[in-house]
Amino acid sequence: MADKIAFQADVSKMLDIVINSLYSEKQIFLRELISNASDACDKLKYLALTHPDIAKASGAFKIVLKPDEKELTLSVSDNGIGMNKEDLIAHLGTIAKSGTAEFVKNASDNGSVCELIGQFGVGFYSAFMVADKVEIITRKAGEDKAWKWSSNGIDGFEIVEAKKDTNGTDIKLFLKKDEKNYVDTIYLRQIVRTYSDHIAYPIVLDLGKAGEETINTGSALWTRNKAEITEDQYKEFYHHISHNFDDPWLTLHFKAEGNIEYTGLLFIPSNAPYDLFQPDKKNSLKLYINKVFISDKLEELMPNYLRFVKGIIDSADLPLNISREMLQHSALIEKIKAGTISRLLKELQKRAKNYDDYIKFWNNFGIVLKEGIYEDFKNREEIAAISYFHTTQDENKLTTLDEYISRCDKEQKSIYYITGDDIKIMRNNPQLEAFKQKGWEVLLLCDPIDEFWPQVLPNYKGYAVKHISQADADMSWKREEKKADEGALGKLCEFMQKLLSAEVGKVTPTEKLTTSPVSLTVEGGQMSLHLERLMRNHQQQTAFASTRILELNPYHPLIIKLADMVMEDKNKAKVEEIAKILLDQAKVAEGEAISDPSFYAEKISQYILKDITAA
Ligand code: ADP
Ligand code: MG
Repeated sequence: MADKIAFQADVSKMLDIVINSLYSEKQIFLRELISNASDACDKLKYLALTHPDIAKASGAFKIVLKPDEKELTLSVSDNGIGMNKEDLIAHLGTIAKSGTAEFVKNASDNGSVCELIGQFGVGFYSAFMVADKVEIITRKAGEDKAWKWSSNGIDGFEIVEAKKDTNGTDIKLFLKKDEKNYVDTIYLRQIVRTYSDHIAYPIVLDLGKAGEETINTGSALWTRNKAEITEDQYKEFYHHISHNFDDPWLTLHFKAEGNIEYTGLLFIPSNAPYDLFQPDKKNSLKLYINKVFISDKLEELMPNYLRFVKGIIDSADLPLNISREMLQHSALIEKIKAGTISRLLKELQKRAKNYDDYIKFWNNFGIVLKEGIYEDFKNREEIAAISYFHTTQDENKLTTLDEYISRCDKEQKSIYYITGDDIKIMRNNPQLEAFKQKGWEVLLLCDPIDEFWPQVLPNYKGYAVKHISQADADMSWKREEKKADEGALGKLCEFMQKLLSAEVGKVTPTEKLTTSPVSLTVEGGQMSLHLERLMRNHQQQTAFASTRILELNPYHPLIIKLADMVMEDKNKAKVEEIAKILLDQAKVAEGEAISDPSFYAEKISQYILKDITAA
């Protein structure tokens, strides 16, 4: 009796999208099936390290393509690990990767489906682009039973017991009528050479009576000499390991020699993957030991802030019989990691010299790389040096800290920054007024991580890194304008502080403002207003809300007038009303919500009306 099993909902939707939108790239199904066959051989090879008996029967690993012109079928076979019934149901009836359901939905809502699918990787299901039926006969290494899985790729699949003498998997595609190409051996050779030449196992074309012919080079790409590898081959290898469709922005192939030897073939994608910010997104470097695939889940191999790097590391110096758990704590892995980070950073340094080129990378991954300034104690300065920031200097170009320093005037001892969530609002923040007047540049930091890294990088190349709320002392400068009377100003501050005590901890004059009467900031060393907003958005408790400081501009006619009114002890109610409006104004300029918007709106309308009636 055959079990008829329906696809998990995600699978049906995804199949539909894949089949209908990747139409122009149909031939990639072969790359996917060959990749899976190669993975299956990798897995058995690894298992054989600990269970030599299980792998004994399989002989040399190979992947066989067998076209049948009469039947119009193409078979892809391997003698790898194989699948049992549970594997078939788990792997070929559901999508196990997290975030996929959401992705599939986005993909179907979005115009550029092809690119999105590319970021996800279509895998096995791409077979249904060219086949209207797929039959798999498979037997898992070490088990006796074999199984036949079959499906039309629409509603579900059937599984029945089958016969197979050896372990491994045969996948037979019943090609659609207009897909005769895929029984044409010349065409098959061409696709394999283009997409799968780097596969480390022989890919053999079964020509029936004419015998067998190996059509790929059959040695792992990273073991070959750099001079003999073409850019296209690198590109295809990148597609193979990343499942991406884009071209790599960076390809880095190196051999480290010395007390530990290893080879790396690393890539940085041109596009950001859809799951870059999913909490479970981990690095996906593959670790090989002397060409045997060991793991792609070894988090210790790459730091989190380089989680966008794809590729492989292969070392013959790691002991093959070591367990994955032991690898996690291996000092050798630590060395490989440190060496690899340093090579990557050097390469980024080189690329950073070309702004237009580097900024493409930065726009995709800068926000992740910056986590390294915070996380990576050892490479902190180096990462900071290849980071780019928005600045008050130039609206259209980002700047590095070194460029910033080179523009500093002699008086300036610090690199100043402000944080916020919207660049446009930040550019107009009143706190920047005196800086603009003096011609001092300020960095505009708007990513959440920007709240954290300056705390661990208090100095950069002899310059203090300072939030502008802590710059008051640096700001003393000669001003010609009329200033409020000291005594009156003190009274005004006192008065406002009492009046607004529910919302601000302190009211004080500042030298930082030129055109605005007031501005809102926080006590030095406390959480910035931006960080507070971020935490509130993430439902974090704001029990430790920072002490707000309302700063007054003692040169502003409005403040001068108000100070006089307090001094003369006249019209208290009016002063109170204006003080409240000023606090609201300061909040708006900072991007904060005001506590009573209708009060604010009503008062402003009244003043406007008065103004136009007077005119
Ligand atoms: P991915 O390769 O990214 O995991 P696929 O859709 O290509 O996704 O394959 C899904 C899963 O099916 C694989 O992870 C593997 O467990 C299983 N699988 C596919 N092809 C084979 C094969 N030839 N031999 C053994 N297992 C396979
Ligand atoms: Mg696959």
